[in-house]
Amino acid sequence: MTVNVLDIAKRRGFFWPSFEIYGSCAGFYTYGPLGALLKLRIEELLRDHYVNKEGCLLIEAPILTPEDPWVASGHVESFTDMNVECTKCGEPHRADHLLEDKTRKTAEGMSLNEIMAAISKHDIKCTKCGGTLGEPYDYNMMFKTYIGPGKNKITGCLRPETAQTTYMPFRRLFEIGRKRLPLGVVQFGKAHRNEISPRQGLVRLREFSQAEVQFFMDPASSGKHPKFGSVKRRKFMVLTKGDQKPGRKPAEMTLEALVKKHTTEWIAYHLATAVQLFERMGIPKKYLRVRQHKDDERSFYSSDTWDVEYMSDTFGKIELVGIAARTDYDLKRHQEFSKQKMQVNLDGKTFIPHVIEVAYGIDRPLYSVMESNVKVDGDRVFFSFPPSVSPYQVAVFPLVRKDGLPKLARDVYDTLNGAGFYALYDEGFIGRLYYRQDEAGTPFGVTVDYDTKKDKAVTLRNRDNQKQVRVKIKDLVEVLRKVMSGQLKFEKAGKLIK
Ligand SMILES: [Zn+2]
Repeated sequence: MTVNVLDIAKRRGFFWPSFEIYGSCAGFYTYGPLGALLKLRIEELLRDHYVNKEGCLLIEAPILTPEDPWVASGHVESFTDMNVECTKCGEPHRADHLLEDKTRKTAEGMSLNEIMAAISKHDIKCTKCGGTLGEPYDYNMMFKTYIGPGKNKITGCLRPETAQTTYMPFRRLFEIGRKRLPLGVVQFGKAHRNEISPRQGLVRLREFSQAEVQFFMDPASSGKHPKFGSVKRRKFMVLTKGDQKPGRKPAEMTLEALVKKHTTEWIAYHLATAVQLFERMGIPKKYLRVRQHKDDERSFYSSDTWDVEYMSDTFGKIELVGIAARTDYDLKRHQEFSKQKMQVNLDGKTFIPHVIEVAYGIDRPLYSVMESNVKVDGDRVFFSFPPSVSPYQVAVFPLVRKDGLPKLARDVYDTLNGAGFYALYDEGFIGRLYYRQDEAGTPFGVTVDYDTKKDKAVTLRNRDNQKQVRVKIKDLVEVLRKVMSGQLKFEKAGKLIK
């Protein structure tokens, strides 16, 4: 049986195309009750790590901004894709993608003129109607609008990344962070790209969520990381820029070896952290690899960029996070254009800090968590989400809707909810309730039955293997905590029911 994640996502209310009743609009998705919760929990896991464990400051800036910052950042000039339209039906296409689809070779780094020549050489036509294509041109992907009315209105932009909205208040953040470097600042929020032709579900959206962390540092110390020693023996599948030539394959490498030849401790440490966080979200390491950007693909301001990629069955490689050494480019440009000082004075030196950026998408990891956790067991389909991100961690049901069982089950639900679990109460035919929670990826089910009145215990069901144990209500919170954290094996959590 093959399973289509997008079908389940739609049917069970994880996410679906937005504006459906008006015929939808490509590149926009609405998260339903399960998807919104899954997203929230993924964001919580990231926030907990970067704010509580790495000591980053959390901020939230507007998504709608004046145009000036984007002139400074270079987005007005160069945040572009190459668009080519059909002269017959008007369909827009990404020129580089059309060429790549035809030649099966990368078009990365090719100029507009080279692409134009290649399109005519290979006689590429409109994929929708077969019509002749027009001339490709650079198309800016920022959404624009107006701020305010009348003559004095100004041009507004929806931010294409959160990063610049973190750089702008750098001086204030530096003061708030008590004038110390490195200074980490994290921002969660929406960003927008007016993509030419988004057709890959959550992988390519016009409105998407990001979690971008900016580390401001003294360039003299930006290589070494104090916690590198704790991760240096970890191994990953790595594709360095030298490996991306025909015939070369990714190789397993320790971080120590990676740092020796290919990058800095700072970048390697954050690559390791990102992989570990994806694993905690439930994405198995075998689907992940670390890839260095090639020289012709890296942004011009970056001296070194790496991605963690997920190998998707449906969409091929998906970039989940990008880690880039952005040098002092952004702060320098904001200093130049705003005429406000971005430099700091530390240890007798005056300098503009350098930035290492750890830029997570949220929608792509969410999709990857779903795709890598969908399981088929006979005619049963379930998501094996770990309790650390599952929309619900435990569902509580009465066996029947009578004889006082709903009241007892509600009490159990209140206890679990009060103890901080993501709990859910539902009632109905018990087999169907289990089936629904399997598809929602809820790791545990609790059933209150007639015996509960006598033994003050409930049946606890494990989603993954459908085993059941009997647990006293008074022990339930403790047992669930231990089972979820891996301290206690499920089979040992109570009397096994045969
Ligand atoms: Zn056409």
